[in-house]
Amino acid sequence: MLIAGNWKMYKGPAETAAFCEALRDQHVEGVDVVVCPPYVSLATAVQLLAGTEIGVAAQNVHWDEAGAYTGEVSAAMLRELGVYGTIVGHSERRQYFGETDETTARRARAALAAGLFVIACVGETEEERERGETDAVLRRQVAALGEADENLVVAYEPVWAIGTGKTATPELAQEAHALIKSLLDVPVLYGGSVKPDNAAELLAQPDVDGALVGGASLDFDSFTAICRAAARS
Ligand code: PEP
Repeated sequence: MLIAGNWKMYKGPAETAAFCEALRDQHVEGVDVVVCPPYVSLATAVQLLAGTEIGVAAQNVHWDEAGAYTGEVSAAMLRELGVYGTIVGHSERRQYFGETDETTARRARAALAAGLFVIACVGETEEERERGETDAVLRRQVAALGEADENLVVAYEPVWAIGTGKTATPELAQEAHALIKSLLDVPVLYGGSVKPDNAAELLAQPDVDGALVGGASLDFDSFTAICRAAARS
């Protein structure tokens, strides 16, 4: 069971320090906990969580080791900082920054090759679901990722459920997770408005191996409540 908090563009170093100082005293048996702060806060999180079992991951990574790519960060740089993994292909990257299946796969492969743990996001939009294209979209996005890897997990994040307060029903999540696992033999996290009050039933589904949590991961009490719900499921 893995619970990862995607902080998006929230929490600079000072807020990150306060959160990590509180988090470092928490140990939830049977649950791997990861936080994904913005780039500028990664060093603070790594420093404060050193010696704990809580992982620190980035929210994106470039596919080259170094180069003329303004605004980008390489896997080697993340490794140098002591960062353990990264998210790739988040729907906000796809929606606002032109990320595609191809760039997501390039980022994922480079990160894996550099020894990072990778959370690769897939998921259909509301329009795609309404047109009955969910299955085809997931097949395309998962196929683009390439082969399974022991450091790769997929996060199923239906775009219509991200930051909207709408959550996939446990049955719908289970159906999508089962499909993804039939295509790629890796753990699959659910993401999309996971909160303390809906985490348990989602995490109880047989093919739900954890959660990627956005909004609710910013609040210490709700994030740790989700981690405890994961421990019970
Ligand atoms: C996310 O950003 O990955 C996410 C799932 O966000 P939220 O939990 O806010 O829907």
